Amino acid sequence: MSVRSVCRDVELFLRGLARELPGVFPRPARRPPAGPRRAGLRRPSPEELAPARELINARAAHWAAALGLRYNRVSVKAQRTLWGSCSRRGNLNFNWRLAGAPPEALDYVVIHELCHLREMNHSRRFWAHVEAACPDYRQRRRWLRLNGASLMAGGPGAANG
Ligand SMILES: [Zn+2]
Repeated sequence: MSVRSVCRDVELFLRGLARELPGVFPRPARRPPAGPRRAGLRRPSPEELAPARELINARAAHWAAALGLRYNRVSVKAQRTLWGSCSRRGNLNFNWRLAGAPPEALDYVVIHELCHLREMNHSRRFWAHVEAACPDYRQRRRWLRLNGASLMAGGPGAANG
């Protein structure tokens, strides 16, 4: 048996084992197709970023006031895999692509990150805050799950809808 065929044998054995014991072997992360992923890396032009910033800043200010929360700063960036984040210093980050999402989806991400100012985790208490501000947040989150990759890539379906 050559080294290569032994390796192949081991590989097949492990693959079979992984199928039998899915809990033991972590599943490889599914990667989005190369095309949209590369497109998603595209840096927004200043002309695209400015209105996205304006919109997202306005929604953050609106919801912060509505929820009685205070943040430090909002940044709008071209993250590859993230819709938003909230730092312990109260800085909020949002993906510029959210500006192309339906307003309900954008608002959900804004509310989600703002609620992290209260709870820096995804505990039940955190989700209770989200739900109080946004009772149909599950639907909005589902929209992002279903359409997020396409929105991130700026492909068809990325427009409001
Ligand atoms: Zn979160």
